[in-house]
Parts: sequence; C-alpha cells; structure tokens
Amino acid sequence: MSNIVNRDTNPSSPLNITPELAAELKERSKNTYQQLIDGNRAFVERSLADDPDYFNKLAAGQNPQVLWIGCADSRVPANEVTGTKPGEVFVHRNIANVCVHSDMNMLSVLDYAVNVLKVKHVIVAGHYGCGGVIAAMGNKQFGLIDNWLRHIKDVYRLHSHELDLITDDKQRANRLVELNVIEQVFNLCKTTIIQNAWKERVDLEIHGWVIDIGTGYVKDLKVSCNSSVNLGKVFAL
Ligand code: ZN
Repeated sequence: MSNIVNRDTNPSSPLNITPELAAELKERSKNTYQQLIDGNRAFVERSLADDPDYFNKLAAGQNPQVLWIGCADSRVPANEVTGTKPGEVFVHRNIANVCVHSDMNMLSVLDYAVNVLKVKHVIVAGHYGCGGVIAAMGNKQFGLIDNWLRHIKDVYRLHSHELDLITDDKQRANRLVELNVIEQVFNLCKTTIIQNAWKERVDLEIHGWVIDIGTGYVKDLKVSCNSSVNLGKVFAL
C-alpha cells in the first residue's frame, strides 16, 4: 500500500495523497457507513420477525438490573458477552474500564444506575489483551491518552512488588488487567454513591470480571462487595 501514497505528486493536497487513493479511501469509508445502515435495517426486521411488539415494549421504558462498566474495546460488547438483550444492561465504557472518583461521566452513570434504576449488580469488566493496560506498562508517549493511562500506572505502582516478579510480558499484562479491575471495584466501593446506597439497601453488589477474548468466557475475580465493612477507616464514609 505504501506505493499508493505519493507525497510528491500532489503537494498542494492538505493530505498529501494521490487523487486515486483519496477516491478509494472515500469509497471504502462510504461502504463501511452503508453497512451500518444496512445492518440496522436487518436488526429491525429480525427483531420484528421474532416479536412484532418488540420496539413498542422497548420504547415503554427500561428496567435493567445490571450496570456494566467495561472497556471501550470493540471486542467486548456488554450485551453480546452476557447473552442479554437491549434493555437489560445499563452500560458505561471507557479505555481500560477505569473508575475515577473525579470522572463526572462515570459518576453520573453510576448515580443514575444505582439511585434511579436501582440496579442490583455493578460489574467492572476488563479483558485480557487490553491495549490500554499494555500501553500503560510501557514508556512510550501516546498523547492525550497518557493522562488517562496514568491511573493504570498507579495501579501498577500499588502492585509492583507482585508484577515485577512476573518475567513473561503477556502474563504480567494479564495480571495487571486483573489487578486493574480489582482496584476499580475498590474505587467504586469508595464512592459516596455506593456507600450511601449500602446504608439503605442489601441488594446491591459490585463485581470484578475479566473477559478472555480468546475463549469468550468471563472470569469472575471473586472480589464481589456488598458492604463498606472492609473499606478501611479512611475510606468508609
Ligand atoms: Zn481494553
């Protein structure tokens, strides 16, 4: 493909690519977009064939029992991974499923899910092979995202005594994926949103999962929390 790009033939172009390549790229992009429109039509037709009342029921409102906080990676969609349907899982996703107590986006989703939708389970779902976690283990600058990845570097620092003993890079990255999920579960438990909910409810649990993209299965890290008893005296509010 490199021979298609010719920076000398069209120096006036702001993209510095040939007109032929520009046309090809535009066509490919158009096709990708059209596939989305076609996919939507197929989804509607399929859903209506299964249940003619499907969208009327969806439009009537949502009553999800689960909040999913997962990675933005395109390979780990909440509904598909859990075999659930639209309306069953409230979803928040960001790079490397990080829960930061100053992130108004995450906090708004958490507050709405816990206090309005009254979800019963909050699941932090990481995944092996997470690009965000792997990038956080390195020393390369990626730009703006470096600020976000700092949160994962902090997780590494907290657990460096364990991680530094793992010599295999892939295994060390996989363990950091798990530890990152565990720390984010802990971060959720530390929020006043969760702690206040636990003062009023006994049916709210926070869980930590890792998805193995290679098999499709999730691993429950067995760090589920349903009270602030073990939060430690400085975090219990
Ligand atoms: Zn990821």
